[in-house]
Amino acid sequence: MEKQKPYYKAVGSEELVFNHSYKNRLPLLIKGPTGTGKSRFVEYMAAKLEKELITISCHEETSSTDLIGRYIIKGAETIWIDGPLTRAVKEGAIIYLDEVAEARPDIIVAIHSLTDHRRELYIDKIGATIKAHADFMLVASYNPGYQKGFKELKPSTRQRFVALTFDYPSEKLEREILENETGIPSADAKKIVAIAGKIRNLTELGLAETVSTRLLVDAAKLINSGLDKRLAMETAVVEPLSDDQDILVALKDLSDLMI
Ligand code: ADP
Repeated sequence: MEKQKPYYKAVGSEELVFNHSYKNRLPLLIKGPTGTGKSRFVEYMAAKLEKELITISCHEETSSTDLIGRYIIKGAETIWIDGPLTRAVKEGAIIYLDEVAEARPDIIVAIHSLTDHRRELYIDKIGATIKAHADFMLVASYNPGYQKGFKELKPSTRQRFVALTFDYPSEKLEREILENETGIPSADAKKIVAIAGKIRNLTELGLAETVSTRLLVDAAKLINSGLDKRLAMETAVVEPLSDDQDILVALKDLSDLMI
């Protein structure tokens, strides 16, 4: 039975590129700011291709052991437990390494031989090399803007992937996403998206990250469930953007005026 596909609104040729990458078993890198639909897109494509998706949200402590596996002690025995990457390689799942640049560098070493013609995983702890299942695919995401130089992917790593860039959708598409995700009336969706457009243009504020579609979806949910519109915009969109009082006041004024 086909699983229900998550809602995903295509923004460009990303579906086509994913399909062809999958067909050719090429690893895919999705670059772009947070909240622009990268994860949703991967979930959607996995459901469409009817493949199991294994997602790993990488952070500073994520190491190759977390991906590949480890020995655990059980009673008098020591047994080997496959990690999620090993499982995906063996079973032919799609593995999604979300925010891969955040992880420890040994992860990049571990996936090296999976991202070229060899398509194999070397597990040093058990001294075994595993050939990837024909259906296995590696997808990774990272946020080039936010890392600001200190946690970038090395060019030699980037060059192992087919790469797609995600960005905030056009006004029309973003309105459609809000309406579909939350059922908010289109007049409200239009205002929320207009506010986002204004904030995104305020580059002089020097925000580390600007308004994402995710924040707008959250605001639309709050409004749709009956929260006062101004309060919804303030708490779901303005507050998460900064801790600087002057910036918060300026953004709140703008949002109050436009909602
Ligand atoms: P990312 O992985 O880029 O941080 P997500 O995939 O988690 O972002 O997207 C955050 C939210 O934004 C999703 O839960 C969804 O509600 C919404 N969203 C963003 N872009 C789209 C899109 N193109 N189609 C459908 N929903 C989207």
